[in-house]
Amino acid sequence: MDVSKNMWKLVMLRLMSTITFRFCSDCSQALYNDPEKQTLHADGSVTTRITLCPECVEQNIRANDAAGQIARRRYAVKKDNEK
Ligand SMILES: [Zn+2]
Repeated sequence: MDVSKNMWKLVMLRLMSTITFRFCSDCSQALYNDPEKQTLHADGSVTTRITLCPECVEQNIRANDAAGQIARRRYAVKKDNEK
C-alpha cells in the first residue's frame, strides 16, 4: 500500500462526524504515556497528536476503506429504493 497516497483516509470522517482509530498495544501505551499528546491553545482550542506504527497505519487505512465502501453501498441501496 502506498501510505503517502492514502494517509488522508486516517482522518476520514465517519458517521456523526467522528474519527475512529484502532491502536495496537504498543501504540496505545505510547499514546497514554506521551506528555505532549495534547496542546491547549490560548483561544481554548486543543490540538491532539497521535502517532501510529506502520502496522496501525495500514490497519486504520484499510478499516476506513471498508467503512467507506459499506457507507457508499448503503447510500446506493437507499437511493435505489427511493426510485
Ligand atoms: Zn501500532
